[in-house]
Amino acid sequence: MCDCLFCKFVSGEIPVNKVYEDENMIVIRDINPQAKNHFLAIPKEHFKLLADATVKQIETVGKCLKKISELSDLLELKNGYRLVINQGDDAGQTVFHLHVHILSGQKMGWQPA
Ligand code: 5GP
Ligand code: ZN
Repeated sequence: MCDCLFCKFVSGEIPVNKVYEDENMIVIRDINPQAKNHFLAIPKEHFKLLADATVKQIETVGKCLKKISELSDLLELKNGYRLVINQGDDAGQTVFHLHVHILSGQKMGWQPA
């Protein structure tokens, strides 16, 4: 069995408030928001890194990105937004199930490192 927090959110083993769900992903609010709105788009299939993903899984990530762009009202995207995918230790990835951070609802600076 997969001992992964986000897999447990996807399966419902750990209850979480899903703001959106379709066949490819769930979208939840980040527990530690870094902007006025901070969502996580979590593909339903488990893989850690883009480098580990099959072509089919990358296609699914593409579908998730397209869908995110269509959820303008729900995610408050109309004035712009930022997508972040942390990959590995240097990026500070803490949950090893690929996910897309969606930041919106305010002007954002750029904070390298
Ligand atoms: P990473 O650092 O791997 O790119 O992002 C993991 C994100 O998951 C972090 O922003 C963290 O705040 C969020 N997170 C960790 N545990 C939970 C949780 O139990 N619930 C929610 N909603 N977010 C979580
Ligand atoms: Zn997982």
